[in-house]
Amino acid sequence: MKVVEGAILLVGEELHPMEGGYLAFEGDRICEVGKGSFKGQCEGRLDARGLIGIPGLINAHIHVGDSAFKEQGSGLSLEALVRPPQGLKHRLLRETSREQILRHMRGTLEDMLSAGVTAFADFREGGMPGVQLLREALRGLKIRPIILGRPQHHWGEEDLEANRAKLPEEAVEEAAAILESAEGLGLSSPNEFTDPSLLQISTLLQGRGKLLATHAAEDPEAEGKSKARTGLGEVERAVKLLKASFLIHLTHARSGDFALLSERRVGAVVCPRANAVLGLGFPPVRRLMDSGVTVALGTDNVMVNSPDMFREMDFLSKTVKALEKSPAAVKPEEILQMATVNAAKVLGLGESLGSLQPGKLADVVFIDAQAANLAPARSPAASVVHRARGDNVKLVLVGGEVAVNKLGRKPW
Ligand SMILES: [Zn+2]
Repeated sequence: MKVVEGAILLVGEELHPMEGGYLAFEGDRICEVGKGSFKGQCEGRLDARGLIGIPGLINAHIHVGDSAFKEQGSGLSLEALVRPPQGLKHRLLRETSREQILRHMRGTLEDMLSAGVTAFADFREGGMPGVQLLREALRGLKIRPIILGRPQHHWGEEDLEANRAKLPEEAVEEAAAILESAEGLGLSSPNEFTDPSLLQISTLLQGRGKLLATHAAEDPEAEGKSKARTGLGEVERAVKLLKASFLIHLTHARSGDFALLSERRVGAVVCPRANAVLGLGFPPVRRLMDSGVTVALGTDNVMVNSPDMFREMDFLSKTVKALEKSPAAVKPEEILQMATVNAAKVLGLGESLGSLQPGKLADVVFIDAQAANLAPARSPAASVVHRARGDNVKLVLVGGEVAVNKLGRKPW
């Protein structure tokens, strides 16, 4: 058993601040969290005074694969940038060498881990080879991947208009192979699929215990286009036909969608900085929360946005307050929950990740509370959300193992 003591710990799902707390873990699991000194025997003890301990951050939506194209196409529309198969990103992916893509993917993974991200959910393009490429980039790194792959099939406009075609057998087989190897599927959007093909995918997922996610209502036009073509909105198709486990964006969700998501217990992942930089608006975060939807946070394409969860939390918190015209519109703890416990729940990992409590995996990030940009950190959650930076991260534990150590000494 190892012990970290003396830190300010943000404990449990509520992220309650505990000053001078200790956290004991055995193997990969937290076995005790308490106040004061740990009384029992242990093989290693870290004096963590001056550090704030938070659950490992979870980036609930990212596309690591476009790390080689940072800021390329800046100023272009969502459609011109990322719509498969002809968006700039997809053209660049075809033109760039595997080695180059791999090197920059690896860079993003290392960057996230050193800035306190201990798990991430990736929308992996490129079918099975795409999944394998990410596995290769992850080799030897102690960050937890949740890989959501997708079959390499793209419908033409005519087929989408007619809304009758089914997926060809090879696309179904590829989707099934991805489900064997990855944590689930992540689709570009219901508008890219016919109704029969959404039902095929939904059927494929049945009984497998895997995740099924899709972007939805990201673009202001998406809902109208979906309704005109299929009679249902994009969010409705994602929930009712595809039976997605969670949806990404929901920036332009319509009023009936909120109750539907809550009723069917479909989680939401919002990506506020990616929406902002693409000029798409701002996700209805307060409304989702008030409707009882579990909201998690992601940084989306590395091409358009940095994978920095501290920046994401700060931007989200302040923009919600600005738009709601109230400094109390959202609490820092609620924002931090979106990057930890809510993300774990949305990704189906709520039993094992997302908070500092006994029985969960010891994924813990320690932040230097004495750094000039944070001290004196009298409201720890607010300090983490509004002021902390990746370089304030001193120690990252993933499953009790040291994944990042910037303490300048051995922890034990
Ligand atoms: Zn995305």
